[in-house]
Amino acid sequence: MSKSPFDLAYQNQNTESKIVASLERISQAFRVLLWNESKEHSLSPIQIQVLIFLLHHSEEKRKVSYLAEEFNMTKATISDTIKTLDKKGLIKKEYEPHDTRSYIIQLTKTGETLAKQTSHFTDQLQVPIDKLQDADKENLLAALIGIIHHLNQSGVITIQRMCLTCSHYREPNGGQQHFCTLLNQNLSTPDLRIDCPEHLLM
Ligand code: SF4
Repeated sequence: MSKSPFDLAYQNQNTESKIVASLERISQAFRVLLWNESKEHSLSPIQIQVLIFLLHHSEEKRKVSYLAEEFNMTKATISDTIKTLDKKGLIKKEYEPHDTRSYIIQLTKTGETLAKQTSHFTDQLQVPIDKLQDADKENLLAALIGIIHHLNQSGVITIQRMCLTCSHYREPNGGQQHFCTLLNQNLSTPDLRIDCPEHLLM
């Protein structure tokens, strides 16, 4: 069995393990920051995440089944989350005329204001990233896209709306850049998207 990246004797001799351990610390930072935001507004972390998602995504993604896949949760758990947000007056349900069981979730004015406010929960993470040189930002972005793509391909995380999983995406070929057939343009690394509204699943 290969060594664990959390085995300190091994980790301290191994750059890859230090990177894995660092990513674990960063995921902990996300949890802490989100938890702090949740406590301040008497909401759960998933309620905050759903509000932020609703603020920035189109109607076809603002449905219980899509949210369940997005957050790797059951439909029942997401339905409970939506019920609570509804009771708190942060969302409203807009039933579809052809199917009274299916609805689009809309933010209310109060929900929108709260979503805008809480969507800044990552501000502390932004501080050191803003200080990086452009080339370092580009390298970091490329490395993270590679990690996310692998996690998606191996089934660890589900829905991805990034270029590398999009039908419109063409890989760099013979010295060419990445290319988007929808935008009909080359994509340099900073142009690659992590969450694209036009993403079309392969
Ligand atoms: S449509 Fe969006 S996700 Fe797809 S390749 Fe173009 S920019 Fe990337």
